[in-house]
Amino acid sequence: MRSVVGWSNQVRYDSVIVRFGGEMGIKGEWTRRAYEKLLLKNIKKALKHHGIPYEKFIHKRGRIYIKTKNAQEIASKLTRVFGVSSASPAIETTSDMNEIVQRAIELADTILKDGSSFAIRCHRVGKHQYSSMDVCKEVGKQILEQLKNRNLQVHLKNPQFTVNVEVRDKYAYIFAETLHGVDGFPLGSQPKVICLLSGGIDSAVACWLAMKRGCPIIPMYFDIAPFTDESATAKALDVARKLFEWSIGFSRKVYIVPHCRNLETFVTESPRKLTCILCKRMMYRVAERIAETERAEGIITGEAIGEQASQTLHNLRVLNEIATKYPVHRPLLGFNKLETEELAKKISTFKISTRKTEGCSAAPIKPATKARLEIVKRAEQQLDIEEMVEESVREAKTVTI
Ligand code: ATP
Ligand code: MG
Repeated sequence: MRSVVGWSNQVRYDSVIVRFGGEMGIKGEWTRRAYEKLLLKNIKKALKHHGIPYEKFIHKRGRIYIKTKNAQEIASKLTRVFGVSSASPAIETTSDMNEIVQRAIELADTILKDGSSFAIRCHRVGKHQYSSMDVCKEVGKQILEQLKNRNLQVHLKNPQFTVNVEVRDKYAYIFAETLHGVDGFPLGSQPKVICLLSGGIDSAVACWLAMKRGCPIIPMYFDIAPFTDESATAKALDVARKLFEWSIGFSRKVYIVPHCRNLETFVTESPRKLTCILCKRMMYRVAERIAETERAEGIITGEAIGEQASQTLHNLRVLNEIATKYPVHRPLLGFNKLETEELAKKISTFKISTRKTEGCSAAPIKPATKARLEIVKRAEQQLDIEEMVEESVREAKTVTI
């Protein structure tokens, strides 16, 4: 069976219905309005970035109707804007029943092929001389009559095609397909966060989850070459670039921190089994400094309980102890690896994140899974940690990609 999307290439859509019910819909009046305003701004930025023209926006509660000749393209792009629940390319008409019937027949004529089953659904807001049920009955009846040589059947429970009618005050919109968005909150509705982005699968997904809840991200990559190969930096930047496709109109700045000398110091001067813990604590220290400069509100990592030796609950406590000014948020804490991978595929970072690069050659064969805080602190006291942090911050570079 051909998909609805295939058929509807021939439909002359002139509008897009953008829905943003989800959690935004249950916010208090003031917050909801502020979020909707922000979402509208983000949508306009996305359309400008993609260079897709439109004529006008009609903003109603829980919906934006966009008048455009590029309805399908716009609907598809907007599914990648946080806060959008779904979008449908549609045909706009007046709320006059005859007009609705006429335009619904035109749509049905294009999408319904011989022997198809179909249903009519109607959603109505405002005062009209008919009920939603009247619309369904009349449109259904007229489609059966006007297209009677096609052997169409009405199937209310499980139709092959659905012709939807959305009546809103003086207007009505007819559509047959709904593209699902990712919901969440509009980007910028929460403050910025610093994201420790390794280029691997997990941290990319963690970043995306923070973005989904409204936080713009500032990715930060610690360059450990030659403990890994030179291509690792390019990989992390490619992941960041992919993530930025979800944050059109926001900063595209990435921090690259030289970390090789730090790591070398831990390998040569501290107990080997603590290398990963010391390395991560250093990342947290530098991240806190940059969070301060950037006026971010927190640090995001891709850690999940027990996923690596350095991520046992025990070791996470030892890591947390060093972040005193900013909370470290771990959106993947309870995720199974397969769940993380599924999400990475959905957000299009998986392919890049699984590009082959050398693993960290500084990782010890037997890393501590239950590091003791006093012992970690004692190891750090043997080093000039302050100077190491200063140097890392001083040498950190930013690139806008
Ligand atoms: P990922 O898949 O994100 O690489 P991982 O499961 O391989 O994570 P670790 O290597 O222990 O786990 O890293 C845990 C977290 O520390 C990462 O999710 C990331 O947030 C951060 N991190 C690790 N290496 C780097 C790096 N080189 N630059 C920036 N952040 C890093
Ligand atoms: Mg990794």
